[in-house]
Amino acid sequence: MFIDSHSHLDVSNYDADRSEVIARARAAGVELMLEIAGSDVGKGSLEPGLRLAEEHEFIFAAVGLHPHEASLYDAELEQTLLECSRHPKVIGWGEIGLDYYYDHSPRDVQQQVFRRQLELALEQKLPVIIHTRDAEDDTISILREHWQQAGGAEIGGIIHCFTGTQTLADAALEIGFHISFSGVVTFKTAEELRSVARTVPMERLLIETDCPFLAPMPYRGKRNEPAFVVETAKKLAELKQTSVEEIANITSGNFRRLFGMA
Ligand SMILES: [Zn+2]
Ligand SMILES: [Zn+2]
Repeated sequence: MFIDSHSHLDVSNYDADRSEVIARARAAGVELMLEIAGSDVGKGSLEPGLRLAEEHEFIFAAVGLHPHEASLYDAELEQTLLECSRHPKVIGWGEIGLDYYYDHSPRDVQQQVFRRQLELALEQKLPVIIHTRDAEDDTISILREHWQQAGGAEIGGIIHCFTGTQTLADAALEIGFHISFSGVVTFKTAEELRSVARTVPMERLLIETDCPFLAPMPYRGKRNEPAFVVETAKKLAELKQTSVEEIANITSGNFRRLFGMA
């Protein structure tokens, strides 16, 4: 059975058929989904993601402020995040990190908010879900200083939708992180990413959709959904020269251990 370690089922893309999407995931063998509550939609938007986790025993949630929205961070939002982080279905803090590709928030603000949320996740003893794009060096140095050296290695975390270099993968593994691959690994042009995936130890591997975006082949360009995580597992099975069942079992076991559910 598969675990989609990163989905955004609260977004409006699913308003018309959310329950069918969830049913299709279950039918495809998705045993658990981690809902990243409220990213990309701004203040006060964590509720719909938490409701989904309350309504379905197989949906868990993470809360955090996406780097795109780092400018929105203030004491009030921090209080909301802290309160939500204590919700019984919340098992992770994220997605947080740095995105220098879009630069929707100034880089210094992104860094400051990233560091602050790492501190809070550490206090709450929650694994962190990291988003990083075109910001590898700063991501690595902040994670080393404000997570690894602060005691975070025992708690762990995920570099989600990994699309980085071998250098980032190696650093993340050294910091004690898991690496989660999305549908991007199935794209024709992702040869370099596939070579990185071959080097990631099985015990640190996770799979995700990051839906509604980044649908894997053969659905590329369509709306993504958790059922499609199977395609990413198939590709990893090919790269690791093993069966899809083995990838499913190992990645699900890794997820459960990371989040203390094993
Ligand atoms: Zn992300
Ligand atoms: Zn995401």
